[in-house]
Amino acid sequence: MSSDRAALLLEEAGRAAGCTRCALHAGRTQVVFGEGDPDAELAFVGEAPGFHEDREGTPFAGRVRALLESLLGGVGLSLDQVYLATVLKCRPPGNRDPLPEESAACEPYLYRQLDLVRPRVVATLGSFATALLSGRALGITRVHGQEQDVTLGGRRVTLYPLYHPAAALYTPTMLEVLERDVARLPQLLAGEAECVDATHARVPVADLAPPAFPRGEGRERQPVQLGLF
Ligand code: SF4
Repeated sequence: MSSDRAALLLEEAGRAAGCTRCALHAGRTQVVFGEGDPDAELAFVGEAPGFHEDREGTPFAGRVRALLESLLGGVGLSLDQVYLATVLKCRPPGNRDPLPEESAACEPYLYRQLDLVRPRVVATLGSFATALLSGRALGITRVHGQEQDVTLGGRRVTLYPLYHPAAALYTPTMLEVLERDVARLPQLLAGEAECVDATHARVPVADLAPPAFPRGEGRERQPVQLGLF
């Protein structure tokens, strides 16, 4: 593990903990920054904390977390081998969709996390995170399981859209699709997706110039207006 990278993530989490950049700060129990292996090859990105996540301070809690853990176990991975994050770090009231201004205010935290962790594969869970990181406002039912190369902060990353486990929990057919899509993760992780700078070489953290992503610059932004998950 890179202790430098872990320390910088902690530092960033500390900054976010007192964030008041958008109105969501007023209703949160806590900022849910992210968790997991700072050197993970695989990151999962969801939409926003829900009720349980807001209480527990983890990006994925309860049955959603259990399902994610089970899916990962099916491909020989565990939660502590991946990095978990959400686009928004504070819970929208009633779990409503994020507003454009909330997303714009919060995105830089996510881009900074991805810049520090430097995952080879970023699995986006649901329509919102997928549209944000792909720059294409296509629903998850159209793009799930279709990997694409994207450039995030100057690095080539394999973006892999998946159904959100929260949706799959209640829809058996969706769960089957999710299981099939997750089964391809080892193949993607072993694939050719490489960083622009080298073969996913870990450049010294000191060479990373914070803040890597001034607001809105991590990915060309497009309006994202999509339904749940
Ligand atoms: S959602 Fe993000 S930008 Fe808004 S207050 Fe929370 S941490 Fe700050």
